[in-house]
Amino acid sequence: MKAQTAEKNRLRSLPAMDCLLGMPDMDPFLENLGREAIKTVLGEAMDSLRKKILAGEDVEPSAESVLKLALPVLAARSGGSLRPVVNATGVVIHTNLGRSCLAPEAGKAVLAAAERYSTLEYDLSEGKRGHRSDHVEWILREITGAEAGIVVNNNAGAVLLMLAGLCSGKEVIVSRGELVEIGGSFRIPDIMAFSGARLVEVGSTNRTHLKDYGNAITENTAALLKVHPSNFRMEGFTSAVPREDLAALAKERGLLFLEDLGSGTLIDMAPFGLKGEPTVSSCLKAGVDLVTFSGDKMLGGPQIGGLAGKKEIVDRLRIYPLLRALRVDKMTLAAFEATLRLYLSGKHLRIPTLAMLKETGDSLRRKARRLSDRLKKILPADTVSLVEADDAVGGGAFPAERLPGWAVGIVMDSLGSAGSVLSLLRSLPVPVIAGARDNMVLLHVRTLLPGDEERICDAFRAVASGR
Ligand SMILES: *Cc1c(COP(=O)(O)O)cnc(C)c1O
Repeated sequence: MKAQTAEKNRLRSLPAMDCLLGMPDMDPFLENLGREAIKTVLGEAMDSLRKKILAGEDVEPSAESVLKLALPVLAARSGGSLRPVVNATGVVIHTNLGRSCLAPEAGKAVLAAAERYSTLEYDLSEGKRGHRSDHVEWILREITGAEAGIVVNNNAGAVLLMLAGLCSGKEVIVSRGELVEIGGSFRIPDIMAFSGARLVEVGSTNRTHLKDYGNAITENTAALLKVHPSNFRMEGFTSAVPREDLAALAKERGLLFLEDLGSGTLIDMAPFGLKGEPTVSSCLKAGVDLVTFSGDKMLGGPQIGGLAGKKEIVDRLRIYPLLRALRVDKMTLAAFEATLRLYLSGKHLRIPTLAMLKETGDSLRRKARRLSDRLKKILPADTVSLVEADDAVGGGAFPAERLPGWAVGIVMDSLGSAGSVLSLLRSLPVPVIAGARDNMVLLHVRTLLPGDEERICDAFRAVASGR
């Protein structure tokens, strides 16, 4: 009992909210967070202090104790949460870091669409309502050879729209080898269930034959669906049915042939050293009726889902009510149009994703050398080295492709393990996200953008000065 009274007394000496708010420490936060948001954080800090005191922990019920808990939270909240970072991981389409970075043209288009009124759904020649897909449909047709196209929020939405709008209440046949989960919990069986279409699995995990599809067709079948296995790859005794054969079967039996292509490759990537990835146009040419794809993977644009294919099919989706719930925002549309125009005019290497993938070993080595020379002036020279390191396409594309790259390796025993250096780099005003091999921090240069070299040097200046 006595101990409890002592704790209650200690609780009473906790500072009052007004007193905390009046402290000069709060001035910078009052400016950019406002009083109420600060009170929330201080309140939570006091609550946690109260709990500690009641649990008999040895903490002072002082203003300093509250500030010790509250200040880091206030600092984090006042700095902006969705922040730019340096991607030094060498993973080009890094989903957690925002996948593709926009080309400068696309970035400008976003800003213009965001800050001004626009022709988003306005037909200038008629002075009346237009359609938002009109801005990109003709370019999609031009680039992919499709008869028609529309866009939605992302590829998951495109697949959902396709299945709900065309196959709801009917059966859709998919190979067991293509029923994979793609990062971020995208699973075809789940999307299928949401869409109201019924999944019919055929074949085995490693092998599916044309007759497996043929035997599964009933009077309830609406479509054959092909799914890009994305970041999953099978080797050895495998077999999948060529698109041409599936297209012929679908045609013969009066079914739709649909494909979720995923990565959204618009041009042949073989000259980039990346072979075997089908393009949207090659799928359509092989007889697929409707292809869905992402805008921010290999395509290098904003998060968007594209649907390209036969006009009669796209027209059915244009009037399907779910489209309204999946419609793209004007900033996204502006970025997508500007990105597609770069393909149209042959300037697609201005798209960072493509430029990064195209970079050769020699050019990467030169970049890594330049960065290591600069870092050697900031850190003890023997902690910095030039190393070969594999990069990755990411985003579920080309999972097996080795993308040989170069990195600057840093070993700083004085700072402890690579893990603690990585965490220090993440804590800086412009966080640097790097890779590691054994005890060496790896700064992959392939994914660095203009200005990032300087940002990395700033980061290591901060690290070296013990900040
Ligand atoms: C990435 C991917 C998706 C999901 O696309 P989002 O644009 O992320 O919604 C769906 N299917 C395949 C095959 C993919 O690779």
